[in-house]
Amino acid sequence: MVILMDRYDVLVVGGGIAGSVGARFCAEYGLDTLLIEKDEVPRHKCCSGIQFPYFERLVGSKIPRNKLCKNELYKVQMVTPDDEIMDAKMDMLNFWRSTFDHWLNEEAERYGAEFRDSTELVDFRKQNGGWTCKLKDQDGDRKIYSKYLMAADGGYSQIRKKLRPGDFGQESTGAAINLYFRGDQGELDDNTLYMIHKKEFSTLMFSWIYRKDEDWIIGTGADHDPMGHLERFYKYVLDNYGIDGKIVKKKGFSSTQNDNLWLGRDNLLFIGDSAGLVDLYRGVGMDAGALSARFGARAIHEAEEKNGKAAVDRYRSHMSRIVKQKIKHDKIQRKRYASDETLKKSLSKGTLMKDGIKLILFQKINKILPPEKMVLLPP
Ligand SMILES: Cc1cc2nc3c(=O)[nH]c(=O)nc-3n(C[C@H](O)[C@H](O)[C@H](O)COP(=O)(O)OP(=O)(O)OC[C@H]3O[C@@H](n4cnc5c(N)ncnc54)[C@H](O)[C@@H]3O)c2cc1C
Repeated sequence: MVILMDRYDVLVVGGGIAGSVGARFCAEYGLDTLLIEKDEVPRHKCCSGIQFPYFERLVGSKIPRNKLCKNELYKVQMVTPDDEIMDAKMDMLNFWRSTFDHWLNEEAERYGAEFRDSTELVDFRKQNGGWTCKLKDQDGDRKIYSKYLMAADGGYSQIRKKLRPGDFGQESTGAAINLYFRGDQGELDDNTLYMIHKKEFSTLMFSWIYRKDEDWIIGTGADHDPMGHLERFYKYVLDNYGIDGKIVKKKGFSSTQNDNLWLGRDNLLFIGDSAGLVDLYRGVGMDAGALSARFGARAIHEAEEKNGKAAVDRYRSHMSRIVKQKIKHDKIQRKRYASDETLKKSLSKGTLMKDGIKLILFQKINKILPPEKMVLLPP
């Protein structure tokens, strides 16, 4: 008996930043592309939703104003372990991931990808040089065949877990929690991103406060006891900024994935968080997710057009600069957060001044570079 299955050139799993951008560019290259998202959209994603302006060029479409928060962010205030305060101007994009990712899903569709939400990849296996994939939606299970698989299923990647279970531990390697606060904002400014560098509040990177429409987001991350770190940080915010109100929501994210990067094999490409691209030194991951998605789509297109190198080898070579930067930053961040002394040294006025000048310079350079050549900031 012959079972007929729907066939695609590319199945993109995960309708977040990486998956949506990946699907959009695959479709633009003329590849028959299916993008699936397991949740109903717009879906919530625990994320600060803050990016540099160059992110718009990375995702490839002009962002409509109504996809961004009402309050813009254009100032940064850093607090050092010694309570020194440093202010700077920096334009940022501020958005809710639910709204933004939904818009990106629609952009992928507009460029020709087929998009299905409430559709989960539940299993896959290699067959005839491609992938037979079992999908589950409201109507039950069904199989499709795709020549390429783009894994954009985030930091909990089940695709990666199936292929490389050793990349995941038993315990969480890091967790981040956001409190959504409403009420009297005290001394907090609507247009400022507050970055508080104190190891008592976060063992991994800075803790944060910023506004998104009606909500103030107060959050932090830690590699152990995240709740204890959050409670200390929340008390610090209450004591230092004079806010008065209530927490309306609490959302967290934790992962057991170790920090190894893996870009895939044969015709299976990992993009975004599933590849391990979050950069704690930079404090962001969406830009690397979008850029990896563009490179992934390009690698598949090139593998289809030219004989020879496999898509994953092409992808690895396009990504080499990003991978090098991420490995370098991981080392710097580990060293920086090793002790209060190393953290203080990394936030000295001289170092920050030097970093600030580099940031301004590369922001200007990025404006003229083609998206695939742009430097992910801070460099
Ligand atoms: C608290 C916090 C704050 C952050 N703040 C920032 C920030 O301000 N700026 C920034 O740039 N980065 C930030 N990041 C990092 C950023 O959120 C990630 O780098 C980014 O979301 C990665 O995008 P992605 O598309 O790879 O994965 P995700 O956004 O996680 O998307 C993966 C998608 O795949 C879907 N999925 C999973 N499994 C399946 C399956 N089997 N079938 C179908 N669909 C599936 C999921 O539902 C999800 O929608 C933050 C992260 C955290 C935790």
